[in-house]
Amino acid sequence: MNLVLMGLPGAGKGTQAERIVEHYSIPHISTGDMFRAAIKDGTDLGLKAKSFMDQGELVPDEVTVGIVKERLAKPDCENGFLLDGFPRTIAQAEQLESILQELRRPLSHVIHIDVDKSQLMERLTGRRICKVCGATYHKVFNPPEVEGICDRCGGELYQRADDAEETVKNRLEVNVKQMQPLLDFYKERNLLDSINGEQDIQDVFGDVQQLLGGSR
Ligand code: ADP
Ligand code: ADP
Ligand code: ZN
Repeated sequence: MNLVLMGLPGAGKGTQAERIVEHYSIPHISTGDMFRAAIKDGTDLGLKAKSFMDQGELVPDEVTVGIVKERLAKPDCENGFLLDGFPRTIAQAEQLESILQELRRPLSHVIHIDVDKSQLMERLTGRRICKVCGATYHKVFNPPEVEGICDRCGGELYQRADDAEETVKNRLEVNVKQMQPLLDFYKERNLLDSINGEQDIQDVFGDVQQLLGGSR
């Protein structure tokens, strides 16, 4: 199953991705997570990405496509993968299409988690992430059992620097602009399925399962 998860920042991609990759046993490929890991490790890639991320701008396509291409070529993607947060521009979508053509692994579904943008500020500013395992929580909508501590691994929770209100505004603007042409791109190819992302987390996942079926 070769999947793309699409949605505006805060729509619930990471939250659903956690559940999808566990249920269907496919690797989770999140460009945002890859950039954050590179920044933490102080690599070249991290240096390239950091200034863009800090301002809520997109990292340039050639950088982003490069890391995705490398990742998709790894053996664990042979039986499927879940792309989360990529593609975000038409250029990325076109290059993904040719990478997957070369690999002879066309996309099975593009799942669009649809949430009105009025909901996103509250979701993003209340988001908390586990430092250790990356699990996603929300102060109000999905709180951990013990405040500040991850249910899964006991790790400490933190707030992403780009989830501060000022950066969120710019991120939303940048992403809203890019999104509609991408939805059209996949609609034309008959790959697009939109899911109502304004339901409880479990109900959104229920819709995903209904779309994908029970199998792996
Ligand atoms: P969110 O979960 O809020 O959608 P991500 O973790 O996916 O955010 O992305 C965080 C930041 O990483 C983005 O604001 C952008 O700077 C960069 N980024 C992630 N994916 C891409 C991409 N496909 N193209 C360009 N920049 C990206
Ligand atoms: P994305 O990866 O698309 O940026 P996340 O999965 O990180 O989005 O979710 C953004 C925030 O909203 C997180 O704090 C998460 O706990 C919360 N959230 C995710 N799905 C829902 C939902 N269906 N209802 C309410 N809050 C949600
Ligand atoms: Zn954790």
